[in-house]
Amino acid sequence: MNQPYLPNQLPEHLAELDRQEQQMGDPFESENALSFSTAITCDDAAVYPEQAMGFLRDEGYYQFHVPKRYGGQLVSYQNQYHLIRSIARRDVTAATAYVLHSIGYWPILIAGTDEQIAKYSAHILKGEGVSWSVTEREHGSDLVNNQSIATKTENGYTLSGSKWPIGMCQYNRFTMFLARTGEEIQPDAFSLFCVDSYQHEGPEFKLLPLEKLYGVRGLPLSGVTLTNYPVDEKQLIGGEGRGLELMLRNQQLPRVGASALATGGFDTALRITMSFAEQRQLFGSRLSDLAVTKGQLADVFCDLLLCESTMNFATRSLHFYPKMMFLWGAVAKYLVPHTLDSAMGQLTDILGARYYLRESFAGGMFQKTLRDIGLAGFADGNKKVNLKNISMHMEMILPYLENPKPLSEQERTHFAQYFDIFTPVPDEDYRKLQVFSGRKDYIFLFLEDSIEKLDERFAQSAITDTIAQDIKTTARQIKAALAALPKELKELKLQLGSDFGYSPESYRISQKYAALHAAAGLIHTVVYSELQAPLNKLEWVAPCLRRVFRWSDSTLPFPSAEDNQAVVNILRTMLNQQMAFTLIPLKLAETDNSFNCPAQMNT
Ligand SMILES: Cc1cc2nc3c(=O)[nH]c(=O)nc-3n(C[C@H](O)[C@H](O)[C@H](O)COP(=O)(O)OP(=O)(O)OC[C@H]3O[C@@H](n4cnc5c(N)ncnc54)[C@H](O)[C@@H]3O)c2cc1C
Repeated sequence: MNQPYLPNQLPEHLAELDRQEQQMGDPFESENALSFSTAITCDDAAVYPEQAMGFLRDEGYYQFHVPKRYGGQLVSYQNQYHLIRSIARRDVTAATAYVLHSIGYWPILIAGTDEQIAKYSAHILKGEGVSWSVTEREHGSDLVNNQSIATKTENGYTLSGSKWPIGMCQYNRFTMFLARTGEEIQPDAFSLFCVDSYQHEGPEFKLLPLEKLYGVRGLPLSGVTLTNYPVDEKQLIGGEGRGLELMLRNQQLPRVGASALATGGFDTALRITMSFAEQRQLFGSRLSDLAVTKGQLADVFCDLLLCESTMNFATRSLHFYPKMMFLWGAVAKYLVPHTLDSAMGQLTDILGARYYLRESFAGGMFQKTLRDIGLAGFADGNKKVNLKNISMHMEMILPYLENPKPLSEQERTHFAQYFDIFTPVPDEDYRKLQVFSGRKDYIFLFLEDSIEKLDERFAQSAITDTIAQDIKTTARQIKAALAALPKELKELKLQLGSDFGYSPESYRISQKYAALHAAAGLIHTVVYSELQAPLNKLEWVAPCLRRVFRWSDSTLPFPSAEDNQAVVNILRTMLNQQMAFTLIPLKLAETDNSFNCPAQMNT
């Protein structure tokens, strides 16, 4: 086992996260580009967060979009997750604009030529981003029916069609445009082209008017219409007919980026709510000490910890199991935004009337975040699209789980390194991203192994017998719930026949699969990662595992008072020690301020 380290003494590869957090600075300080007050001012006026984005550009943050071997600073997608999370905790709008800077660049890394990779990497580093023009007004998620057309010419193609709504195309120089090159409407009839908006000015390239948004109000969202827009062969990415395949392979990366918007925003919303609950006196008690409120705080903190664990292994999969990222990214993209969206409802309930105030409570940051993080749910594949991806895999994975091949020692070592969230990751290879993850879901295949390793893990740390026993019992319950899933699937398929695919039952069983995935992932994290104070005593683990059962069955008994107290104590410690609410011990930028939420509503 690694030597434990103190908060703020992160291993070398994670130390970058601390540097970034400190450099972005105290968000309460209005002089800082990424301050809460600047975020609110831009949001109120619905203007692009120029100052925040200028800071990110000038301080070299675009370098983290580009892998090191192509001249950038990106070495780990896990780090990229935490960077986006840190920006989003200050301003979800700026974090979204940051993600959208490179959203159309990833397919070039997946399938571009060396020349294309070098060219567009240089543009990204210069601050000339690549938008992602896929959605059409009439067809939404039904991409196979998209109408944009690429017509072959002597030197390349001309593109015609309209994409809406598209983020950042007013600011990004390029946009990745999906158009049909084939005669028939079928999956291999589409191709991706990187369109340079500087190439032809005039009627061939038209930006659509800006949309007014409910959340992330300063995000430029519009669209683009091309009319016989000429592009050359070098602007075709990955060859003709590979557009939809590349789109699906590409989406795995922004999907995880979109989920980071939710965890970062939620960190701030929970910080505001916990600060309020700690200060508010009602009925002779602190609000956070009222049993019902304590229960809500414990529930939402368990939700967040499960999401954090899921995000760490989803992002690390790019480096260790690129083929699995399609499925594991879909699990994260369904689970994280959806869970935190529901958890926001609990926070509004704790805050009461204050959540509705736009200025005089928490500087307006709660209401902004509440509106902003909804974006994470539908951007880059909505909840149902991701559940459908899970369901498609589940039909192969669950039967395999009943009779799996033995796992090799080499597979075991690889898995152990993958789940130690404090070890550096190997280099990524974007070309290995797939559109199908196969029938081996290692998160479940290794579950029994990890449960058996719990005793060994507990022997190396100061965990009480009661906590150890509780985790082992609950882990066994997770395993039993997983063991029941193949039979449930078989019965549903028999009962519903060909109606199963789009039935509510199919979506519900995919939700269960995702929930058990998060629970199994947490068990692996506990076994292989030496979590640091205040998470190291593991008293929060069994409550988190039990929480997963209540996601799908709200009639189950409420958690015990002891469970709630244990979880809230950790939340309180992390709040008071100014730590990010995540599994890595990341100290927030120094501040003398806090979300001071005094008793009077108008102060
Ligand atoms: C702020 C913002 C930024 C955006 N940025 C971009 C961008 O940069 N590039 C881009 O191309 N697009 C972008 N979009 C568009 C967005 O990604 C699309 O709107 C989305 O992918 C299409 O899904 P939809 O939720 O609009 O609904 P639709 O596809 O119209 O679906 C409507 C509803 O149908 C149901 N449904 C859909 N699929 C299924 C299914 N498989 N099974 C069952 N039910 C289903 C769901 O309930 C869904 O909500 C952006 C949108 C917004 C609001």
